[in-house]
Amino acid sequence: MDWKPIAKTKEHQLVEPNLLDYEETCRTFSWASLEAELRGTCQSQGLNIADIAIDRHATGSRANKTALRFVDRDWNIKNFTYRALKEQTNRFASVLSTLDVGKGDRVFVLAGRIPSLYIAAFGSLKNGSVFCPMFSAFGPEPIFQRLDRGDAKVLVTTELLYRQKVAQSRDRLPNLQHILLADVDDHASEGIWSLPRLMATASPEFAIAPTDPEDMALLHFTSGTTGMPKGAIHVHKAVYQHYMTAKYVLDLHPDDIFWCTADPGWVTGTSYGIIAPLTHGVTSIVDEAEFDADRWYRILETQKVTVWYTAPTAIRRLMRMNINPKSEYDLSHLRLVLSVGEPLNPEAVVWGEEKLGLPIHDNWWQTETGGIMIANYATMDIRPGSMGRPVPGIEAAIVRRKEDGSVEVIDQPGVDGDLALKPGWHSMFRGYLHDEVRYKKCFVGDWYITGDLATRDADGYFWFVGREDDIIKTSGHMVGPFEVESALMEHPAVAEAGVIGKPNPMIGELVKAFVALKPGYQPSDVLKLELIGFARQKLGAAIAPKELEFKDSLPKTRSGKIMRRLLKARELGLPEGDLSTLEQD
Ligand code: AMP
Repeated sequence: MDWKPIAKTKEHQLVEPNLLDYEETCRTFSWASLEAELRGTCQSQGLNIADIAIDRHATGSRANKTALRFVDRDWNIKNFTYRALKEQTNRFASVLSTLDVGKGDRVFVLAGRIPSLYIAAFGSLKNGSVFCPMFSAFGPEPIFQRLDRGDAKVLVTTELLYRQKVAQSRDRLPNLQHILLADVDDHASEGIWSLPRLMATASPEFAIAPTDPEDMALLHFTSGTTGMPKGAIHVHKAVYQHYMTAKYVLDLHPDDIFWCTADPGWVTGTSYGIIAPLTHGVTSIVDEAEFDADRWYRILETQKVTVWYTAPTAIRRLMRMNINPKSEYDLSHLRLVLSVGEPLNPEAVVWGEEKLGLPIHDNWWQTETGGIMIANYATMDIRPGSMGRPVPGIEAAIVRRKEDGSVEVIDQPGVDGDLALKPGWHSMFRGYLHDEVRYKKCFVGDWYITGDLATRDADGYFWFVGREDDIIKTSGHMVGPFEVESALMEHPAVAEAGVIGKPNPMIGELVKAFVALKPGYQPSDVLKLELIGFARQKLGAAIAPKELEFKDSLPKTRSGKIMRRLLKARELGLPEGDLSTLEQD
């Protein structure tokens, strides 16, 4: 079905958008002038994300403005002004330096959306250390993998999460020197500290470490198709992209109340849930509870949210509810709704227009890009189903790989190919930690190859087609099939495992596992449940398989690799494609 573009009218725009003329802004954009806009406002030497996001506001006219507002499960509100956030993050940085944690050292955080997480993020950056967030719903195995691969020196977490998910691997993590528990009053032992206690005696004064814009700031783990997750390295300079996209895409204005629903364990929750809104000195809402339709609408209403950044899975869940938000809640403050993370169905864009009174603005980016790359803008008409057009300063193209190893740009509109970006933007990842080979593979000729397939129309709008690899997107979370297969293989009954993403109308893709059993084991419902339970315990419910099917054997290439593509084609009744590499039994 062809969807009619949604024209943006004056009713959609309660304030004048920051980006008025897309073509002109792209034409005149320069990184140098963006740098000049921010650099002179810094308090510290060099360029530090925490300075741009907090300290420069804390010493200016926004000092007493609320920077972060936490809404806890019982609707208690906790506000942190820019001034208070400066002090708290100074204390955290002081704690780190007292513990001899320094520049480049990795500070991991495993926690729900509690204040300590946000304070630890900026405090680590002030200290020159690297903030590494983890999704708190992960099970022990993905957590161990990330702590180990990321050379964790410090872990900030809660007592329960530590006990349930980390304590058992502690012996295998010799570099992990300090556990800071955010919710206990007393130190447990040397190395397992009470964070509140350390914070209480730490100095509220801290001089931000001189920071080179190219210093490592953030480490985000992302899943690959082969091998374990890779740590994408981001530097302080990324803050320019956060600031710029918050201005042009999120359209932030000084009086905005912004709400990003993404968990900080994923890149959106860090770039746009922690950093970007504060770079503009706005108030950012953090909901500590999980998704609940009524709660979410009440947050929009009671917190008077003006700009809302959410995700397709959540929108689809809201669409299923028998709720008419426009008439049942006061959403009159809301002026811009955006979505990222998975394809946004055209129906969802139109649903927004009908039920919220605002169309939903899809945008595209990924862990490696560090910030939004392609977007629908507040001023521009929306083509439902399209990811939009590249943000100013970003050159995107559809390319085809040639046999000689080079790539050519596909100029004709409507032709599928690899979505590629011209390297050089400020929030581009600078490497995969300890994996130069994998990093280099992402670049071909003049282009960074994103791993997504897409098409471009005659007016320069980009349309998502699919992933080029086997990576699964479930409820907006990136899941690497290899990680799930490896966990299943640890069960004594499993001889082989192959994991795919099965399209699902609600959560995008559902993780499905195919398992061949070792001799002596028989398929049964009991064993199926046992294997699903086993995977859940290791991986966490968010990434463990929801479906599992037994097979006598799994299709493999002649070199012994499980052909997930073929498992998926057979599951979905699609053409099986090229089978020349299939190993015949
Ligand atoms: P992550 O690195 O976890 O943020 O996941 C990035 C991947 O999510 C992209 O490479 C896409 O495959 C997918 N993705 C993100 N945003 C969109 C979007 N607007 N439409 C379609 N897919 C998206």
